[in-house]
Amino acid sequence: MLRLDGVTTGYHRVPVLRAVSLEVSPGELVALVGANGAGKTTVLRTISGLVRPWEGSIWLDGARIDGRAPHEIVEAGLGHIPEGRRLFPDMTVRENLELGAYTARAKAAKRRNLALAYAMFPVLRERSAQLAGTLSGGEQQMLAIARGLMSSPRVLLLDEPSLGLAPRLVQRIFEVVAAINAEGIAVLLVEQNVQHALALARRAYVIENGTIVAQGEGRALLQQDGLRRAYLGY
Ligand code: ATP
Repeated sequence: MLRLDGVTTGYHRVPVLRAVSLEVSPGELVALVGANGAGKTTVLRTISGLVRPWEGSIWLDGARIDGRAPHEIVEAGLGHIPEGRRLFPDMTVRENLELGAYTARAKAAKRRNLALAYAMFPVLRERSAQLAGTLSGGEQQMLAIARGLMSSPRVLLLDEPSLGLAPRLVQRIFEVVAAINAEGIAVLLVEQNVQHALALARRAYVIENGTIVAQGEGRALLQQDGLRRAYLGY
């Protein structure tokens, strides 16, 4: 359903990704892991049209999406929850959620998606009139994820959703990612929490210096000595 085929790109003529190919099937949960600066965020930004590929192609449901504008890519069914949440702090929880439903397709499904978001995150319903900037860090991350769901994605890109959260909340975020996937939404998850991500994902890719160096079943990758030493330190 989502496929990158030999994607090479970078910033200001400096290459960052080199011939990256990866695939996410309908309903699949796939992790993309790697060290800081390996290019994980750039992969997600390239899929959502924020960075243009220099070479290669990107496909969603059989249609080529590279070269399209970011809002067209959202309309085509791709949601992106960037690192750092990017909420509107002076707007309420409810207003932030409604802003997530800006495409025609999402507007039509707004009521259903709002119900889904509130069912998944009851705390957001309780706080729907509260300003987003006054939520705790964990609640803000929940809101960012819920806002992503408001665009009715068939594939959701999640960039380090557990970053900076206390261990108890990290656990909760991973449960939420699993619950989203259980709704039939395919997920491409970028995580610095390699252990957790590989345990959760059916398949995973490992990226180093802009190149995919390993791929396979998440739990099998966790057993590989080289990967364990590089990312888990034992
Ligand atoms: P992190 O976990 O630190 O976010 P990452 O794997 O997501 O790392 P990227 O953010 O994709 O990595 O960065 C890959 C490389 O591209 C890094 O060397 C980074 O310095 C560079 N880079 C990222 N964004 C830009 C930009 N806007 N302009 C120039 N170089 C950039």
